[in-house]
Amino acid sequence: MSSFRAFAEGMTDVLVLGAGLTGLSCAMLLARDGHQVTVLDRDLACPTPGKEWEEWDRPGVTQFRLAHIMLPRWHAVMSLELPSVLDRVAAAGGQPFNFAGSLPPVPSDDRFQTITARRPILEAALAAEAAETPGVTLRRGVAVTGLVTQGDRVAGVRLGDGDKILAELVVDCGGRRSALSSWLFEAGLPAPAEERADAGFVYYMRHYRGDRPEPRGPLLQHHDSLSILTLPGDTDTWSVGFVTSVRDKPLRALRNPAAWEAALARYPLAAHWAEGTPLTGVEAMGGLVDQWRTVTTPGVVAVGDAACCTNPSLGRGATMGLLHARLLRDVLRAGLPTSFADHTATEIGPWYEATVWFDRHRIAEIDADATGTPYEPNDPQWTGARAMYAAACTGNAEALRAQLAIACMLPDAPDLQVPDTGIRYPLPGATRTELLSTLAAA
Ligand SMILES: Cc1cc2nc3c(=O)[nH]c(=O)nc-3n(C[C@H](O)[C@H](O)[C@H](O)COP(=O)(O)OP(=O)(O)OC[C@H]3O[C@@H](n4cnc5c(N)ncnc54)[C@H](O)[C@@H]3O)c2cc1C
Repeated sequence: MSSFRAFAEGMTDVLVLGAGLTGLSCAMLLARDGHQVTVLDRDLACPTPGKEWEEWDRPGVTQFRLAHIMLPRWHAVMSLELPSVLDRVAAAGGQPFNFAGSLPPVPSDDRFQTITARRPILEAALAAEAAETPGVTLRRGVAVTGLVTQGDRVAGVRLGDGDKILAELVVDCGGRRSALSSWLFEAGLPAPAEERADAGFVYYMRHYRGDRPEPRGPLLQHHDSLSILTLPGDTDTWSVGFVTSVRDKPLRALRNPAAWEAALARYPLAAHWAEGTPLTGVEAMGGLVDQWRTVTTPGVVAVGDAACCTNPSLGRGATMGLLHARLLRDVLRAGLPTSFADHTATEIGPWYEATVWFDRHRIAEIDADATGTPYEPNDPQWTGARAMYAAACTGNAEALRAQLAIACMLPDAPDLQVPDTGIRYPLPGATRTELLSTLAAA
């Protein structure tokens, strides 16, 4: 039987490299289509189920204990494809959250619904469901160190202990630091075409526990020279922090918890998110990349961050990974594995480009703020996006819903234009000068 027919009939052996958010979702989607799927991850399982936040060591995912939110599009796809994962997240303390919750509700606001939980809780729910999915074998503590090849195609992987595992398809879900390019190079096969740039952002985030705050503004609040992220979590937890430029030396003071708290207090719609018991100090993370890899070698594909990774302030990574995993399922279902790179470019490419477009403007704007220079690029789309954000923040419900549809990655976002009033970011909060004097005094 040809491989193509085998894919279409769901009889292949698939090796998924990486048991992160994408790898686990991908494994379940493929196994439910009849494939035999083995998932490998070098990190061990959590030693005490139920203590994932406290005890799960995940060196393979550096952002494991940083703020995460799953967008409504992720929730919608999960509800359709893997609803039992959502049941598990809810049973572990996941909380329903509607992005349009500040508006008088209308029935179509269901599309803004999601469930919130800290990343270790989310990943544990996915892992538990994967472990019970017929056709999925989950092996942890197994490091992949290279590829097995057969002619010009990938036929399996090599493990750290010298073993090999053969498969009809290797799915690289190894995250943004995946070594696939160097493995292909070592094997004498063409390395993927790669586009990669430092996004330039740095995050200063904390987790809290207590009486969960009600949002008083958007979850992503833009201000002079920084943005503030406020993300509800599971049960009685949440995370809050600053997103700014890695080049902004004065704002590195935000690493200091006292300075961080003094700074947050200067933003009235976010300050109450610090009214709880801190679960962490200030976690700083930079070095984030926008990265796109086009893998065309037969026998291997890349999915999720391994293929397409963006700066996370729009919170799109897991949703793009899930959409990408579902696309692979659909392409295999049609028996067309060799066209996956083309389908990726068509289906996932526009999300990547839109996210990178936003990021590049926003980081340039933040950098300009730090030097006191007005940011005025010649891009009417950016002017329109800022006008929409300003309208959404100042009581225009139609603009807010349109803006949320884009933010939530919904497929049917209306193409609404609002007049530019020249107001940039209307939310109350410190100017840069005020922020710097607050940091100096803290
Ligand atoms: C600070 C920060 C905040 C973020 N916030 C959000 C958010 O709010 N919402 C959102 O949707 N996304 C967010 N993201 C992005 C999100 O974390 C990623 O998109 C997501 O983790 C990608 O999942 P993945 O499964 O593709 O890769 P990963 O989660 O990186 O998983 C890769 C897995 O592969 C394993 N692995 C790698 N190499 C090997 C090997 N050689 N052998 C064996 N195993 C290997 C690793 O151990 C790991 O388990 C954030 C990212 C950062 C950095």
